Amino acid sequence: MIDRPVFQPPPALVQIAERLESAGCQAWAVGGAIRDAILERPRADWDLATDARPEEVRELFRRTVPLGLDHGTVGVLGQDDSMYEVTTFRLDVETDGRHAVVEFATEIEDDLARRDFTINAIAWRPATQELRDPYEGMVDLEAGVLRAVGEPSGRFAEDYLRVLRAFRFAGVYDLEIEPETLAALRAAVVHLDRLSAERVREELLKVLSADVPSRSLRLYADFGALEGWYTEIAPVAEGHAWVEALEAIDALKPHRAFLRVVRLFLCAGGGPEESVDKAEALLRRLKFSNAEIRRGTHLVAHYRPLVHPADGSASIREWLSTVGTEFSRDLFRLHFAAARGSGSADAERALVYTWGRVHDEIVERSPVTVGQLAVDGTDLLALGLPAGPLVGLMLEELLAQVIDAPDRNERGVLLESARELIELGGLDSLEGGLQE
Ligand code: ATP
Ligand code: MG
Repeated sequence: MIDRPVFQPPPALVQIAERLESAGCQAWAVGGAIRDAILERPRADWDLATDARPEEVRELFRRTVPLGLDHGTVGVLGQDDSMYEVTTFRLDVETDGRHAVVEFATEIEDDLARRDFTINAIAWRPATQELRDPYEGMVDLEAGVLRAVGEPSGRFAEDYLRVLRAFRFAGVYDLEIEPETLAALRAAVVHLDRLSAERVREELLKVLSADVPSRSLRLYADFGALEGWYTEIAPVAEGHAWVEALEAIDALKPHRAFLRVVRLFLCAGGGPEESVDKAEALLRRLKFSNAEIRRGTHLVAHYRPLVHPADGSASIREWLSTVGTEFSRDLFRLHFAAARGSGSADAERALVYTWGRVHDEIVERSPVTVGQLAVDGTDLLALGLPAGPLVGLMLEELLAQVIDAPDRNERGVLLESARELIELGGLDSLEGGLQE
């Protein structure tokens, strides 16, 4: 017998439920919050299901946000200023494996029937303390079983995202997949290409926000779900690089989901250029933003080699100049994760030491970019340098000097140095650099 779970919803959610109930509507807490309460896991976001129509919900509350009105979801701002999702009971009719065509329902049972897995189809009504668990999700949760609601293959065909959701839930909660659900999953994987990039990406980010994503990722690999969306990774998903990647991903903090994405895409491997191309292809296919694509490919390009702990401080500044100060911390995080993942305490200690030295340079604002120089292009033009690429090359040359000796970053010193280079024919060697 399973103990009756203790539900401790946030007071703001109880208040929203009470308001709905006092208007003659039902308010049921459903989904992840109920699942996590039964597992006694801490949980901040609670969702409500109601027979009130979206228009009614918007009239009942002062502060609402139309989150997805065609899906019946209204965001209600609680007294704690958090947003709670209030969704009208739904009856999913007709799907094309991508989008559900939605019809509203009047009974919680109908709404639970359209949910994907038994562990997600449990509802609790704060007003009456009633619990509805028509598919025995609590039994499955206690036994550690993931089971589709209803006939599994039909349920996956309605929405293939459920395939990826299955890997997520099975991994995150360490569940055994029930045999029929498992067989249906195996057959459904080939249809993942019908999903939109946005949904696949959001699902990946959810997997990578879990405490331990490796179990779900291993399921992706075992079921062949890396083919298609993650085709560059699929071939490595058995070897050493894959194991290393999973260990490193688990070692990165859950709130750094994007860095975990980068670590995952790094395992596609290849030479310096090839690995950047592969990461870019993956990021583009999944429609990450341009800023994320830039960040991701830059991190992949500079993941190695890292400065050595024994290197002089000029080497450290040179490294910062190459990788960019704003990327240095993430690169170290990736290396820390690799060291931690492989259990190498020595490597971790060396990284702590090296990062300390890099950090010192950052704190001291040691000049590592042309923009930080005490002179600029206009100064060089005033010295008689012709406008054009030579100006940039001269600035690079001065930066190299300053990286070597930061105290040279003074206007007078740099102008003198530039003048000397121009006069002593240093320009020729700069120009030579142009032809390289
Ligand atoms: P978490 O928020 O921890 O990721 P969750 O269970 O709350 O988990 P959501 O994606 O927020 O997941 O969805 C809330 C609920 O809506 C689920 O518990 C499930 O009952 C239902 N649900 C969500 N997506 C689907 C889907 N694609 N098919 C069927 N039911 C779904
Ligand atoms: Mg949720």
